[in-house]
Amino acid sequence: MYKDKIKEACGIIGIYGHDEAAKLAYLGLYALQHRGQESAGIVTIDSSGKSYEIKEMGLVSEIFDEKKLNYLKGNKAIGHVRYSTTGSTTIENAQPIKVNYINGPLAVAHNGNLINSQEIRFALEKSGSIFESTVDSEILVHLIAKNNMYDFVEAVKNSLKELKGAFSFVILNKDFLIAARDPNGFRPLEVGQIDGTYIVASETCAFDLLNAKRIFTVEPGEIVVFSKDGVKTEKFAERQRSAMCVFEFIYFARPDSFIFNRTVNDIRRELGRQLGKEAPCEADVVIPVPDSGVIAAIGYSETTGIKYDMGLIRNHYIGRTFIEPEQAIRDFGVKLKLNSVREILEGKRVVVIDDSIVRGTTSRKIAKMIKQAGAKEIHYRISSPPIFNPCFYGMDFPTRTELIANNHTIEEIRKYLRVDSLAYLSLDGLIKAIGGKKDKFCMACFDGDYPLPFDNKQNKFMFEK
Ligand code: SF4
Repeated sequence: MYKDKIKEACGIIGIYGHDEAAKLAYLGLYALQHRGQESAGIVTIDSSGKSYEIKEMGLVSEIFDEKKLNYLKGNKAIGHVRYSTTGSTTIENAQPIKVNYINGPLAVAHNGNLINSQEIRFALEKSGSIFESTVDSEILVHLIAKNNMYDFVEAVKNSLKELKGAFSFVILNKDFLIAARDPNGFRPLEVGQIDGTYIVASETCAFDLLNAKRIFTVEPGEIVVFSKDGVKTEKFAERQRSAMCVFEFIYFARPDSFIFNRTVNDIRRELGRQLGKEAPCEADVVIPVPDSGVIAAIGYSETTGIKYDMGLIRNHYIGRTFIEPEQAIRDFGVKLKLNSVREILEGKRVVVIDDSIVRGTTSRKIAKMIKQAGAKEIHYRISSPPIFNPCFYGMDFPTRTELIANNHTIEEIRKYLRVDSLAYLSLDGLIKAIGGKKDKFCMACFDGDYPLPFDNKQNKFMFEK
């Protein structure tokens, strides 16, 4: 499959005040499926304080059916879709994480990565806490339980203060749904409404499916508390250096989402336009690597005047497992996902737009596929700068040495891909495309300027979300 694509860590949803909260959460998770495809879960709590939970490995549409959703009773719910790396793909690590503590049921769902997780976990284990998973997110339920001398909202605020790193959380107990975003604002978190129901989601595409209206953003360092008394916003920490993840715009978020106060589609198209200005070429057709390259390719075509077409078609309907013939098929994984359209490519000088190159292995296979379809020339254009550094804030990047740009020149990468030319968007071009506001964003994977210091050794859970 797309083994060298960066994987988004998670998507989260929260519902407050609807008799079919689980069904709304299910639909919201379905819209957020692109943020994680390995496991999904929903926890609900009913008016008597009883909790219900279903989490399984697989896609949202595979896991939930009418019977399961009817089992998930209650008018408030949280849900989660998750991606994880090999080794931690276990049901124990699926979310939401639900426990029963002295004050009843408590569940959390997390998008991001905590950089002081090991330190806190060690201290908690020393004082008797027993962990059930290896995900950093479990720390929050232990901290909330430890803070049980305070009322619930204060307990949550005190617990969040101890965390460092990237986090957007939804937290549920018998009385409250709480949404929280870290003081740097790494990951998006939006609040929407339909009639009397509140919805919290990683991206607004979840609202559209539910016919809900976006009402505001959970600001960095804030919690939003939903309860029978209405909606209340409180600060749990001072805002820190703004560090919205620029990769959400480049690749992760859906183009029809509105996050970080911008429409993803607009930024992604602007990335393509900038790329067209910086790295035009003589060609007959511009094609995207679908789906993430589509909008940037349209932008590139607008700037250069080169005709846009769909020279690669993606199969969206892939389940979890594939039976490969015993006689292994060459490049099986990529072929399963993408196929070339010979009529568009044959005899043509082709510009291929992709959002990023990680290890380079998939790009090389795609270039080969295009060549085999008869392209005369292949010009690879990347709508983001070269990735030199791993992410410590919730994205699953390979190690620094596995990132092809880290130890190869652009010319060496071009040769490896076996294409006629290769160009990336410049860092300046990226900054222009996002409105010139570099200081608002994290771009550490490109420029190495990490907004939050971290200890490389301490975070063994770093890639286990
Ligand atoms: S390092 Fe890159 S992927 Fe990670 S938060 Fe920063 S911009 Fe996003």
